[in-house]
Amino acid sequence: MLKIENLAVNYAGIKALRGVSLHVEPGELVALIGSNGSGKTSLLRAISGIVEPSEGNILIDGKRINDIPSHKRVALGLAHCPEARHVFAQQTIEDNLHLGAYLRYGKESKHQIQETLEEVYTIFPKLRERSKQQAGTLSGGEQQMLAIGRALMLKPKILMLDEPSMGLAPVIINEVFNVIEKLRQSKTTTILLVEQLAFMALKVADRGYVLEQGLVRIEGKAADLKGNPVVQEAYLGLAKK
Ligand code: ATP
Repeated sequence: MLKIENLAVNYAGIKALRGVSLHVEPGELVALIGSNGSGKTSLLRAISGIVEPSEGNILIDGKRINDIPSHKRVALGLAHCPEARHVFAQQTIEDNLHLGAYLRYGKESKHQIQETLEEVYTIFPKLRERSKQQAGTLSGGEQQMLAIGRALMLKPKILMLDEPSMGLAPVIINEVFNVIEKLRQSKTTTILLVEQLAFMALKVADRGYVLEQGLVRIEGKAADLKGNPVVQEAYLGLAKK
């Protein structure tokens, strides 16, 4: 469904990505782990069209999308939840969710959009409870849920989540990852998850890639990565015996 071939991204001389290849198949949850500055966010930004790669191909369903502008990639079904979440603080939670479906208005019936809203409220009951409240009044964890819910309103082909744990307390991180796990089990959403908390990411993922200094160092099934001594030592905090 999503294929990245030999992707390179440079920022004024800094090589953030140096030839990354990966793929995400329909219904999969693929985790991208790596330490600070390894290039994870740059990869998502390149896929979304926020930064332009200097080399390589980005393909969706076999079609190269490098030359398609960012807003049109959303119409292809690419939803990106950035680290910063960007909820519209002055708008209600329900209005934020409707904004996520803006590309579907005019193409689909109000009933279909309402159905998705109901699905999102079923996944996130707290958002239903507070639907008329301003989004700015939500806690960080709730805003993360809202950002994911808003992206789901698009009915995306691929949901890209950038560090959903960022700035959240451990108990809230667990709640967010429980939801991500539910989405994976439903097999209706294909997810590319960027996460520094490798143990959380590998717990919910089908497969994973470890990025180091802009390159894929290790890839494999999540269960195999969890058992890999290099991953254990560098990313899971388990010292060598
Ligand atoms: P983190 O987990 O800290 O967000 P990351 O793995 O997402 O890190 P990136 O944010 O993609 O990594 O950064 C990769 C490299 O590119 C780093 O060296 C970073 O300093 C650099 N970089 C990122 N954005 C820019 C930018 N806009 N201008 C210049 N350098 C940048």
